[in-house]
Amino acid sequence: HNHIDHATPDKVHAAIARGETHAHLPEYETLQAYRKGGGYDTLEALRSGSQTVDAVQDTMLEAGLRGLGGAGFPSGRKWSFVRAAEGPRYLAVNGDEGEPGTFKDRYYLERTPHLFLEGMLIAAWAVEAEKCFIYMRDEYPAVLDILRLEIAALEEAGLVEKGYIDLRRGAGAYICGEESAMIESIEGKRGIPRHRPPYVAQVGIFDRPTLVHNVETLKWVARILREGPEILNGVEKNGRKGLRSFSISGRVRNPGVHLLPAGSTILDLIEAAGGMLDGHVFKAYQPGGPSAGLLPASLNDVPMDFDTLQPHGTFIGSAAVVILSDRDSARDAALNMLRFFEDESCGQCTPCRAGCEKAVKLMQADRWDTALLEELSQTMVDASICGLGQAAPNPIRLTIKHFPEEI
Ligand code: SF4
Repeated sequence: HNHIDHATPDKVHAAIARGETHAHLPEYETLQAYRKGGGYDTLEALRSGSQTVDAVQDTMLEAGLRGLGGAGFPSGRKWSFVRAAEGPRYLAVNGDEGEPGTFKDRYYLERTPHLFLEGMLIAAWAVEAEKCFIYMRDEYPAVLDILRLEIAALEEAGLVEKGYIDLRRGAGAYICGEESAMIESIEGKRGIPRHRPPYVAQVGIFDRPTLVHNVETLKWVARILREGPEILNGVEKNGRKGLRSFSISGRVRNPGVHLLPAGSTILDLIEAAGGMLDGHVFKAYQPGGPSAGLLPASLNDVPMDFDTLQPHGTFIGSAAVVILSDRDSARDAALNMLRFFEDESCGQCTPCRAGCEKAVKLMQADRWDTALLEELSQTMVDASICGLGQAAPNPIRLTIKHFPEEI
């Protein structure tokens, strides 16, 4: 694939025809179609001075846009941190999407890639990025081909300089979705998380200030500027504002990406996904990827937003929601989550590397040694370098709390 990363659209089409790349691209909005609907007008207006960066940054804050990769950091504030650091600066897009159950970025990229690309170029304009790196999950071959084609089309149309957007492929490591590990990987090194501080906004790619955004966050940047901040802050439910793209899977009739108010509860999500499968009774749910563990069906009135799940010892993350039924075992699901972390731990620090392995062994016992598992969990939370090791105990703790009869 590498040789066509910076080719013209014709060359990419020819490569697709020769079967050298992904042959079955989904129907998506091309550059031509996107421009017809006013696409890139905002970017061109900004480049010719229609608004100041401060004004655009304020619009993002007004809309309430927060990082949709999972951390939920206010996007406008992130821009101001990066701008405050001395240039040259870079922009990096986190398209690794390795959280089990998350597929929203793929969904959007296979349909409207230019909303994302325009949002990225607007953010790059805001922080005066010298170059944009897109770190894309290699397990998304259609997305990679679409991006190759459309980046080449953008270059041909003169909207970006050749080589300004650098498309990089991940190699299947979950930890490379952690932003500092992703930066190490972009630099050509083994993807392991860095200690912080310094934060990547100050010391990122090749030690330069780097703005890191998730794919979906950038899509919203373009939409907010075109449609106004009300598109997010005008939606209110259960006292929460905004919209969330939930990746819903499990025992529901219509799994998929569902765009719903951020204040939606798990019952709203199940309803949006067509209800439970026939013969299945709602038992438990994973609110935000395996790092978020499992909650019982009885906790069904909590808005699925940033911060709201915190009192229950968990979080929404990238909104990867998995619905379990009475035919599923919470204990087996939790063990599966820890096996995943054992596999994906980068191994850099002992509490996580040895802790995940030890937890898997303890969780395979007929009866869980809850005191020992709790002690292990606390050590992992206190002493792991990054979020993987710090959050890995969540499935253990929540299963002990909510499903004691199974362990
Ligand atoms: Fe690596 Fe785990 Fe330590 Fe994170 S917590 S740096 S994944 S060993």
